[in-house]
Amino acid sequence: MNILHASSEVFPYSKTGGLADATAALARAQAAAGHTVTLVTPLYRSIRDAFPGLEPLGQAEPPARVWRLEPEPNLTVLFVDQPEWFDRDRLYGHADDAERFIFFSKCVSRLAKRTEIVHAHDWQSGLVMPLLTDVPVGKVFTIHNAAYQGRFPADKFELTGLPESFFDWRQLEFHGDVSFLKGGIVCADLVTTVSPRYARELLTKEYGCGLKGVFQSRGDALVGVLNGVDYTEWNTTDNPHLAAAYSGDSPGGKAANKHALQRELGLPELVDVPLLGNISRFTDQKGIDILLGALEELLGGGVVFQFVGLGSGDPLLEQAMSGLAKRHPDRVAVQIGYDTGLAHRIEAGSDFYVMPSRFEPCGLNQLYSLRYGSVPVVRATGGLDDSVIDLGQGDALATGIKFTDYSAEALGQALGRALALYARPKRLAKVRDNGMRADFSWGQTTAEYERLYAKIKKPAA
Ligand code: ADP
Repeated sequence: MNILHASSEVFPYSKTGGLADATAALARAQAAAGHTVTLVTPLYRSIRDAFPGLEPLGQAEPPARVWRLEPEPNLTVLFVDQPEWFDRDRLYGHADDAERFIFFSKCVSRLAKRTEIVHAHDWQSGLVMPLLTDVPVGKVFTIHNAAYQGRFPADKFELTGLPESFFDWRQLEFHGDVSFLKGGIVCADLVTTVSPRYARELLTKEYGCGLKGVFQSRGDALVGVLNGVDYTEWNTTDNPHLAAAYSGDSPGGKAANKHALQRELGLPELVDVPLLGNISRFTDQKGIDILLGALEELLGGGVVFQFVGLGSGDPLLEQAMSGLAKRHPDRVAVQIGYDTGLAHRIEAGSDFYVMPSRFEPCGLNQLYSLRYGSVPVVRATGGLDDSVIDLGQGDALATGIKFTDYSAEALGQALGRALALYARPKRLAKVRDNGMRADFSWGQTTAEYERLYAKIKKPAA
């Protein structure tokens, strides 16, 4: 099939979160499966310097330069170059984000006409779906996080160039504003999200982010497909970021990574103390508030463990995390910032990976932690629930620990179960081994998308 993806971030060219990893890996997996895949993304500042292989392709309409790169067979990445909109430090959070991503979506819709499937991701590319209304292509829209909706004042609607009839509550209008995410949801042939449980959660008031009714109106056209992991990027056997290689068959090297991590972050290099890890955007979503509460409680109670955290975001959460590390320098180490190498080393060096999200569409870090032998402790929501098997299911199957209530107490209890597991090395080794052998590669995701695409593909003109 001829597939075109539109994404506002693609690893390794740009990234703020899981969207970049997921779109890059899906496109690569589809290309490897023999499809002809094009990925369209903005040319942000510094991409051209970092990737000298970029070749000029020509002009897009509306006026933009387009650069192309063929990182592997069957895969072309097209970069939309419009310095006024994209030559900036931050990817998002600018006063003119509506203009920027209307522009991007228009470029994509012009580039998309000769493909069979156009697959747009998240609000930044949502308008691609209505912009292709009369074009005979199969239209797929994937929601990686419904909390980010691209909602702007009504006067921005005119810039889309769409007929006035699209500014209607059944289309893009949302409480008097224009919603790019809603445009994607209502105008796509098929709406997917990144885990089956999150697809069900979107139909509820608690998780539907105000769009419950819109999701319900799509019926069977809303489908959850769990993301995969790009194991060429996230692996423990051939990884320049790690101190030592290890695997399920030869797990010994994990200890060296733990030591190296303790040394790197200035924690005492203790062998028998369980080490917990977390890597997050510090937002309300990620459960940093209950994480802080649970850690304080355990530290106050004299429970012996170490914790390493990496993240950035909300300044108050940054301060609270740094403050915890300052008060407990031999137990807690926190790095504020964004550091891919350290993210790999935390996954490899920690015994447990803590992910207490309030909601989690798919979540990638718990999938990485499974492969890295860092037993995930997760709240049973979204993709976390779909990808981790709790200890209660028996040692033959268990890969991690789950809890349900969104509270510091419930997380504290789950961490208590983790520390009890640590005290039983044989059982810990079994659970860790189950996780390391679990396979979340993109093969299954790609196969599921092939099936879904076939349903909506338009007959050749
Ligand atoms: P989300 O997309 O909601 O942030 P995911 O778990 O799906 O959450 O994906 C997060 C991705 O971003 C992972 O690859 C993770 O390692 C990475 N990441 C998040 N914060 C940081 C950070 N501070 N430093 C390095 N990588 C980070």
